[in-house]
Amino acid sequence: MKNIIMFGSPGAGKGTQAEKINEKYGLIHISTGSILRDEIYRKTELGQKAKTIIDAGGLIPDEIMIDIIYNFINKNEESTGFIFDGFPRTIKQVKELDAFLEKKGEKIDKMFVLDVPETILIERLQKRAKLDNRADDQDLKIIHKRFDLYKTITLPLIDYYKKQEKYQEINGVGEVDAIFSEIEEIINEV
Ligand code: AMP
Repeated sequence: MKNIIMFGSPGAGKGTQAEKINEKYGLIHISTGSILRDEIYRKTELGQKAKTIIDAGGLIPDEIMIDIIYNFINKNEESTGFIFDGFPRTIKQVKELDAFLEKKGEKIDKMFVLDVPETILIERLQKRAKLDNRADDQDLKIIHKRFDLYKTITLPLIDYYKKQEKYQEINGVGEVDAIFSEIEEIINEV
């Protein structure tokens, strides 16, 4: 398995599990949220534009996100594969990613969907707000806006990957290592 999508609502644990996959299998972890937060930290032009949108719980325009992903993959061409965390989030992003990978003779192998009930997601995000000082995790109204966008715009991507038989649901509640064991088992099977 070379290219994996970690999918799930904000707070589902995508980044944590992506890091563990990276440690064990050496696939490169691409977190679009982290890339954007780094742009904000460095006060780049993109960062300034992104901050307003992220703090309001919105989505960055597709063209910008697709550019970020292309650049990242092109810069890391020697990698054996990637774990996508926070991307794709829209149908347009999925289609562009597929076309881009296909040109390189690559494809998405698996989509892991971390399933976590909303009450636990909210608890996790509020805890993370304190640890990471993320404005978008601090306000309950913004959290709900992100959940709504996830449900209406991002969740339909599940059907896209189900049709390709790449979809794999994972119970995202419990110990980090126990959740990872479930993922590991599936990666090792393929
Ligand atoms: P995350 O850390 O993945 O929750 O991302 C934080 C924020 O960055 C999101 O709420 C969006 O505003 C923005 N973002 C990250 N990835 C994407 C994406 N693929 N498409 C649009 N916006 C994104």
